[in-house]
Amino acid sequence: MADRARDISVIVVGGSYAGAAAAKRLAALSQQGFTGLKVTLVDRSTHYFHAVGFPKALVDDKYAEKSFLPLTGFFAGSSKHEYINQGLAAVVDAHHVELDDGRRLYYDYLVLATGGKAPGPINVAGRTKEAGLAEIRALRQGLEGAESVLVIGGGPVGVEVAGFVAATYPAKRVTLVHSHGQLLPKQFRIGVSNGAVEKLTALGVRVVLNDRVEIPDDFEYAAHIGHRVLRGTRAGQEYASDVQIPAVGFQVHSEYLAPLEAAVGRGALRAAGSGAIRVRPTLQLDADALPHIFVPGDANSLPGSTKFGFKAEMQGNTAAANIRRLIESGFDVANKTGAEAAAASAPAVGAWTDYVDLIMLPVGPNRGVAQICKIALGSSAVADFLVRQIKTRDFMLGLRKGYYPRPEKRKTD
Ligand SMILES: Cc1cc2nc3c(=O)[nH]c(=O)nc-3n(C[C@H](O)[C@H](O)[C@H](O)COP(=O)(O)OP(=O)(O)OC[C@H]3O[C@@H](n4cnc5c(N)ncnc54)[C@H](O)[C@@H]3O)c2cc1C
Repeated sequence: MADRARDISVIVVGGSYAGAAAAKRLAALSQQGFTGLKVTLVDRSTHYFHAVGFPKALVDDKYAEKSFLPLTGFFAGSSKHEYINQGLAAVVDAHHVELDDGRRLYYDYLVLATGGKAPGPINVAGRTKEAGLAEIRALRQGLEGAESVLVIGGGPVGVEVAGFVAATYPAKRVTLVHSHGQLLPKQFRIGVSNGAVEKLTALGVRVVLNDRVEIPDDFEYAAHIGHRVLRGTRAGQEYASDVQIPAVGFQVHSEYLAPLEAAVGRGALRAAGSGAIRVRPTLQLDADALPHIFVPGDANSLPGSTKFGFKAEMQGNTAAANIRRLIESGFDVANKTGAEAAAASAPAVGAWTDYVDLIMLPVGPNRGVAQICKIALGSSAVADFLVRQIKTRDFMLGLRKGYYPRPEKRKTD
């Protein structure tokens, strides 16, 4: 059994679903005898942005204002744990990271919960509340002046955004183009997909299936507002619109792994293309020598069906539980290497299991589709009622508030 009072430094990078869950759970260990443990949360943003509510924030300024929760009070009540508002520039080696300001920090355990980004305006890139709000407002202003809107990609985000834009601006022509024969990813039952088409169509959205819009190379944020004609891959198909909202092309934030990857082996840690960080079922990095680095949430290489906020949160909890087990098992992170390290850590850690099958998608403020334990609630009014009651009201923002208390005076542990 390990000495719980031993000095241990855990760095968690990313303070959203996965990182906030991991950091809160680890910091709570201070109250359970782990007196030497220090948790450092690093996030390049000053605020958590509630991306889940983006479809509502886009059309509702009051809600957008509330969607940014400050990270500065994250460790309220603790004088030991620390939040640092910086970007992670590099994981330098097995025990050091470097921040954008050049600071180099030591870690015994590292949690990389940096998620990812979509290319277009749904990726709120601003690193302060003011900058993020300005992006959302610019897009809303663009929508208000537009006659036609093109949403590219009929995954959950595209469906929700198209529904809210059409419901809020009924006079505008909204088109949703999706590259497959049915809306939404494969884990959704056909009844859910058909229900989404039906409810979007009722709101006046033109849904086009089996066509892929060619996204131009110059498609940066600012280019999405203004009249453009984009081509589809179907022969002769063109889409003219005044505002374009791509909801495709997810990329993981993992460029900071390049130095460590160079040491381990080219391409060993990240998938080509998406940049997803390869993990084992225990959420440990898939590298024998690095069993003390965990990657919960959207940044990891688990299947697309796990890329949901509540699953990222569950994974953050699993990563924290595994770190606790490693500490308790006496695993000596600094003095083990290679296969020896993997073998020493293996008995202590547990796998994350994806046992929740629950999806709720608002289609505009009053309607919605859902899937609960493989049961499709598509075109029914029951789905409308359930989604409205459970999700649409505040898009689960209330559930996040406990993670981000308002900044206050710090106490001593
Ligand atoms: C528009 C939209 C709607 C969605 N709707 C839903 C929904 O209804 N239900 C649902 O369950 N999920 C939904 N999702 C998915 C959900 O938001 C993600 O699965 C979830 O946010 C993933 O959490 P995460 O903690 O892994 O990463 P993220 O939420 O992406 O957070 C990553 C964090 O890391 C920080 N970061 C990144 N790189 C660095 C760096 N180099 N240095 C320092 N900090 C860094 C970022 O600032 C951020 O705080 C939606 C996503 C979008 C975009």
